[in-house]
Formats: sequence, C-alpha cells, structure tokens
Amino acid sequence: MQKPVQKVSRETPMKGRMSVDDRCTECQEAAYSCEICQTRPKAYVPVKDAWLAERAAAAPTPVSAYPGEWAIGEIPGGIVAKWDQASHRFVGAGSRREPHPHPHRFAWLELTTACPHRCRHCYLGSRLAHGHAPLPQILQALSQMREFMVGEVVLTGGEPTMHPQFVRILNDARMVAPAVRVLTNGWTQRPEVVSALAQAGVQVETPLLGWQEDHDWMTRTPGSFQRVMTSLRRYHEAGVDLTLTTTLTRQGMRALPQLRKLANAWGIPFAPSALTAEGAALDHWRDLSPAGSEA
Ligand code: SF4
Repeated sequence: MQKPVQKVSRETPMKGRMSVDDRCTECQEAAYSCEICQTRPKAYVPVKDAWLAERAAAAPTPVSAYPGEWAIGEIPGGIVAKWDQASHRFVGAGSRREPHPHPHRFAWLELTTACPHRCRHCYLGSRLAHGHAPLPQILQALSQMREFMVGEVVLTGGEPTMHPQFVRILNDARMVAPAVRVLTNGWTQRPEVVSALAQAGVQVETPLLGWQEDHDWMTRTPGSFQRVMTSLRRYHEAGVDLTLTTTLTRQGMRALPQLRKLANAWGIPFAPSALTAEGAALDHWRDLSPAGSEA
C-alpha cells in the first residue's frame, strides 16, 4: 500500500523530499517539527525543483536476476519484492550482485496491486489494479526471506488485506520473522482479518491522508474517511498494535493537529512520512506538495 513508514521525531529526521534540511522561514525550526509549518504549510522553504526533475529523469534501476523464482532488490535497511503482473514474478527495486543470504532489517513484500482507492500520491502509479500475486510465489518468497534471516516482514500492496489468502499469508509471515508489519488503508473490516491483525507480533500501520473531505479527495473514494475511522476504532478495540500514519502532503499537513489528537486519545503512535516524488504523485505534485503555492 505504501512504503514502510519513516518514523519521525527530532532524533530521527525524515529522509526524502521534505527533509530535516527544510527550514521554516519564520522560526528556522526544522519544518517537520515546526508548529507554524504544521498549520501554515506555506511557511516551508520551497524544496528544490531540481530534485524532482532529477528523479523524473532517472533511468529505471535494472532488476537483477536472482538465482531463484524471484528477484529481489535492496532498499536502505532491507530488501523488497514487488509483484509484477507482466512477468508474473516478484521483482526488486534494485539489483543484488551478491546472492548470499545475510541478515536484513526488514523485507518488504507486495501481496497485490488491488486497492479500492486511487490515491493521488500512490507510489504504484500505473502498476495499481493489476491483480494479486499467486499464493505459491508468495510462499516461496517468504521461504527465501526466512533464509535471509530478516528481522521483520512488511506486508503491503496495493491493499494487502484484499488478497484472498491474506490471513494464511500473514500467519506464514509470522513464522518467518519475529515481527510482521501490515500496511493497510483500513478498508477491510472482516472479523477474521481484524482478529488476524490483532495477533501478537503483528503491527499495523493505517493512514489518514487528511481530515474528512481531504482524505476522500486524496483517495478519490467518497466515504473513505468515515470507513477508515470505523476500521481504526475496530482495530483499536480488538487490541491491534496500531500506528496511525499520514503522508506529509498539503492535505496531511492540514490534518496534523487532529491526527495528533486522535493518536493521543487512543494512546497509539503517530508516524508521519514524507511525500515521495514517484508514481501518481508525479502527476499531482503541485496539488500535494506542502511547498507548493496555495491560494
Ligand atoms: S491507492 Fe492509496 S491506499 Fe491504495 S495502494 Fe495506493 S496509496 Fe495505498
């Protein structure tokens, strides 16, 4: 559904387009932690357009052929397996020249590209809505992740809970690594899924991409805010180890006070992450970037 969240605090500044280097023009605080910026995104120092142009012009990273059924790529701290419908296999986001197993902090596994939403910032871009990864390939990928001795398996998509075998996959992932993280948009409310998410060792991250109509605008799904709020309540009541997230778009920034209040009221972590210039976000950058102009 989304990339693993970069936890944000003064001690662990965000990486990416909106970084700790961005300074508030009024108080010179780091932009992500500045109260002025959180209520008035225009106070951000504009980020450099050159960075966006550089990203857009960058050639796709070649995918290496790992000697197995799937290729993997490395991202900082972990490995990634993205489901590619065209080649019907998992592919990585980068290349791996040394195919020898060694510990990785986490492994990121896309179960599906299906999703009820069409978010304006979705990193999947044109890869969205091209079906599920078949169970045998997922189980093989999990088996190889066990060999890599990953510390955490991150189940994502698309919307991972829309995979027909989601509960089975989650239970298998719990056998692979000591921790499993599920990145879900909160669409699924089926009791068996909620019970599976509430198991020990499973962490769930669910975003609110704005407050009320801003969230619906981001997802392009009317009523999605109310639905995710209902899901969050059910998860919380079921004892799910829940983290509330958001993406620091202009809409996410506007919602920060309400999101903090909600997380505080439930006693759950709140972890905003930076907007990244990829996928659908490239088409909507001017409407999403907190550094863009807002009339
Ligand atoms: S459309 Fe939205 S909810 Fe669905 S995978 Fe993309 S970012 Fe996640």
